[in-house]
Amino acid sequence: MNGLEALDSRYDAVVVGARAAGAATAMLLARSGLRVLAVDRGAYGSDTLSTHALMRAGVLQLARWGVLGRIEEAGTPPVHRTVFHYDDEVVDVPIKPRHGVPALFAPRRTVLDRTLVDAAAAAGAVVRHRVRLVDLVRDAGGRVTGAVIEEDGGGRRTVRAGIVIGADGLRSAVASLVGAPLTRRGRHAAANVYGYWSGLEAEGYHWHWGPGVAAGAIPTNGGEVLVFAGASTRRFAEEIRLDVPGAYRRVLAEAAPELAERLPAARLSGSLHGFPGHPGYLRRPWGPGWALVGDAAYFKDPITAHGISDALRDAELLARAVVRGGEPPLAEYEAARDDLSTRLFELTDRIASLEWDNDELKALHQSLSDEMKREVSALVDLGTAETEPVRSTA
Ligand SMILES: Cc1cc2nc3c(=O)[nH]c(=O)nc-3n(C[C@H](O)[C@H](O)[C@H](O)COP(=O)(O)OP(=O)(O)OC[C@H]3O[C@@H](n4cnc5c(N)ncnc54)[C@H](O)[C@@H]3O)c2cc1C
Repeated sequence: MNGLEALDSRYDAVVVGARAAGAATAMLLARSGLRVLAVDRGAYGSDTLSTHALMRAGVLQLARWGVLGRIEEAGTPPVHRTVFHYDDEVVDVPIKPRHGVPALFAPRRTVLDRTLVDAAAAAGAVVRHRVRLVDLVRDAGGRVTGAVIEEDGGGRRTVRAGIVIGADGLRSAVASLVGAPLTRRGRHAAANVYGYWSGLEAEGYHWHWGPGVAAGAIPTNGGEVLVFAGASTRRFAEEIRLDVPGAYRRVLAEAAPELAERLPAARLSGSLHGFPGHPGYLRRPWGPGWALVGDAAYFKDPITAHGISDALRDAELLARAVVRGGEPPLAEYEAARDDLSTRLFELTDRIASLEWDNDELKALHQSLSDEMKREVSALVDLGTAETEPVRSTA
C-alpha cells in the first residue's frame, strides 16, 4: 500500500501547493468545517526562492488567524520602521501599532510556511508533502471534479473534490490544466539577487533606490539580515548571471553605497539566490470546480514586496467564497481581488521598470502607500469573525 492509499476518496477541497496561499486557504477551509486535502511537491518546512518582507495587510491576517505568536516565538524580529533612501534623501516612516498589528515582520519562508501548514493540520486539514498534482479529473460537462496526485517514488491516486484549488505558484499546473485566461499582463520585470548576512546591523526595513537599481535590507530570523540587490532583467542576463557575487556587490554599491561598505565586515550565510525576473499577471481565478489563489492567480514583481501579503489576503477572500458555495461567491472573490489588486499591480509594474527619477518614484510610493491603506481597511472591514462553520459534503 503506498502512502496515498490512506487518503479518503473524496474531499470538499483539494488544495495544490501548501505555502503562503495554499496552507492559509487549507487552514481557513478546515476551520470552517470542510474536509480538506492539501498537497505540495516540496518538502515540509523547506525554503523557496523568495525574500519575505510582510506588509501590514499580511501581518494583520496572521494576527487575525492566531498564528502571529508562533512567528514571533520563532525569533522573527519586529520591524518598527520602514526607511526609504532616495540617493541622499532619507524618508523614515514609523510603523505604528494598529489593527492588532504590533509591528511588521519578515519571517523566513521556512518559518512562515511551516507555521501555516501546522495551523492547517491542527484545524483538521490533511497535508501531504512530496506529493504533486499530475492531472485533473472532469465530468462529462467539463467541470473539474477531482485531482490525480502522485507521490515521490511513484504512487498515484485519484481523489474526488468539490473544488480543486491551485495554490501552486508562478508556474501553476492547475492554471495551465484548466486554461485560466490572463486578464492583465505587466510590461516590466526586475531581477533580484539576495543573501542572508550575520553581523550586520539593520533596524527596520531599508529600501534603497538609484538610477536603474534597487536594494534593501530586511531583518529576519536568527539575527540575520536579508540584503537584496535589484536590477533590470537585461542586466541580469548580460552581467549578473555571469558573475553573481561580483555583480551583487556592484549593484549594491550603486544603489546603497553605505550598506555595501558595511558588507565586508559581515558574514554571508549560505549562497546568494538569484531571480531573473518575471512580468506580472492577473488570471481569472475560478471556473467550474476550480479556483486559483496566490501567485497562481496573481503575480507582481517582488520589487514592492507584496506577494505574500496578497496571497494571505486572497486566501481569506477565496476561503470565504468557497464556504458560501456556488459560483456567485467565486465571482465576488474575483471582483474583490481585482478591486484591491489592480492599482497595486500597475504601480508595481511601473516601479519594476526601474526607469523613474526620484520625484516620480516618490509619487509612486505615495500612491502605493494609499493603496496599502485601502487594502488594510478592506481587510479590517471583513471583520474578525471566522467564516461560518459548514457541514462537509465529502
Ligand atoms: C525573488 C523574490 C522575492 C520576493 N520577495 C517578496 C517579499 O519580500 N515579500 C512578499 O510579500 N513577497 C515576495 N515575493 C513574492 C512571494 O514569494 C510570492 O508572492 C509567494 O511565494 C506566493 O505564495 P504562493 O503560496 O502563492 O506560491 P509559492 O510560495 O510559490 O508556493 C507554491 C507551492 O506550490 C507547490 N507546487 C507547484 N506545483 C505543484 C504541483 N504540481 N503539485 C503540488 N505542489 C506544487 C510548490 O512546491 C510550492 O511549494 C518574492 C518573490 C520572489 C521570486
